[in-house]
Amino acid sequence: MTLKQQYQEVLKRLRRHYTRAPETFVRWKTPLELVVGTVLSAQCTDKRVNKVTKTLFKKYRTARAYARADLDTLKKQIYSIGFYNSKAKYLVGIGKRLVEAYEGKVPNTFDDLMTLPGVSRKTAHLVMSKAWQKPTGVAVDTHVRRIAPRLGWTQECKNVAKIERDLNALIAPRDYLDTNEYLIMLGRDLCRAKPNCAACPLNDICPTGRLHLTL
Ligand code: SF4
Repeated sequence: MTLKQQYQEVLKRLRRHYTRAPETFVRWKTPLELVVGTVLSAQCTDKRVNKVTKTLFKKYRTARAYARADLDTLKKQIYSIGFYNSKAKYLVGIGKRLVEAYEGKVPNTFDDLMTLPGVSRKTAHLVMSKAWQKPTGVAVDTHVRRIAPRLGWTQECKNVAKIERDLNALIAPRDYLDTNEYLIMLGRDLCRAKPNCAACPLNDICPTGRLHLTL
C-alpha cells in the first residue's frame, strides 16, 4: 500500500467511524464569527469557546464593534477562555485592521488573513476552507501535529510549517478540512497523548498502531 492509498483508507475509515457533528467544533454563522471563535480557541476547548461566544457574538456583531470595544470590558467577557489579556487585544486589533484595510469585511485570501493580529496559519487555513470554500492547506493543530507522524504522513514532529508542507503534498485540497476535523475527533477520542491503539479502527494500517500491538 502506498502512502497515498493508506491516507485514503484512513479517511474512509474515519468517515465511517465518526459522525461529524457541528457542535463539536467552534460555532459560527459569519466569517467574522469564525475568525473570532478560532482565535479564541487557541489553548482552549471548543466547548468552552462556544459557551462564551454565544453571548459575545450578540454584543459584537461587526468588525467596527470589536475595533471600538473597551479592552477591560472585553477581557472580562472572555475571561473564562484563558489567555484573555492577549486574546482581547487580538480581537480589538482584528476589528481595527478589518475596518482600516478591508472595509470591515473578512478578506478571502490566505495572505490577507495572515495580516490580522492573532491569526495563525491554522486559523487562516480554516477560514479559507470553511468560510470561503477555497482550501489553501491543512490546518495543523495540536491533534494533527501529534497524529500525522504516528500515521507515517510526516517525519516531522514539531515544526508546524514542515508538517503542513508534507500533508499538503499528500492530500487533495478538497480533503484538507475533513483531514483536520477527523484527526481532531480521533485525537480527542483514541489517539491521545497515550494512544489507545487496541480500540482504534486504524490499527492495522497505522505504523505506530502496528508497533504498539506487537510489543
Ligand atoms: S493506531 Fe494508535 S497511534 Fe495509530 S492512529 Fe490509532 S490510536 Fe493513533
